[in-house]
Amino acid sequence: MTPHCPFCDIVAGRLAASVVAETERVLAFLDLRQAVPGHVLVIPKAHVEDIHAITPALAGEVMQLGVRVAHALREALHPPGINLWQSNGAAAGQEVPHFHLHVQPRRVADGLMRVYPHGVPVPSSRDALDELAARIRPCLSPDDGVPTPRSSP
Ligand SMILES: [Zn+2]
Repeated sequence: MTPHCPFCDIVAGRLAASVVAETERVLAFLDLRQAVPGHVLVIPKAHVEDIHAITPALAGEVMQLGVRVAHALREALHPPGINLWQSNGAAAGQEVPHFHLHVQPRRVADGLMRVYPHGVPVPSSRDALDELAARIRPCLSPDDGVPTPRSSP
């Protein structure tokens, strides 16, 4: 628990939330700010700031419940599409520093974000992709650990 974390307050029952699903370590509830009806947040019950602090196993549990919530939203609200998205750091748009997965029913022209709002990027060269992949591979964290920071971003 971290002071002033609204999601920890929800987990502890100090702040109201409309819960849609729960497991031993994960909670899913309606986002107070319904960008679209049925906008759900799925969080670990433990305070974990972002993707760099969560274990792959716990992130997997968050995703598992997110998948179940997506199925429930399809049955309950019949949206023609659903987005799952997750942000880390202010530059990525993370507003609450407690890991959360958004599950959002989507409709055509609903005014929410578009993937590639400026158009689909042109394909990169294979050489450029291979070089980038070779740079990323040695930095992978252990199967179920969190990374040890190597250097500043
Ligand atoms: Zn928290």
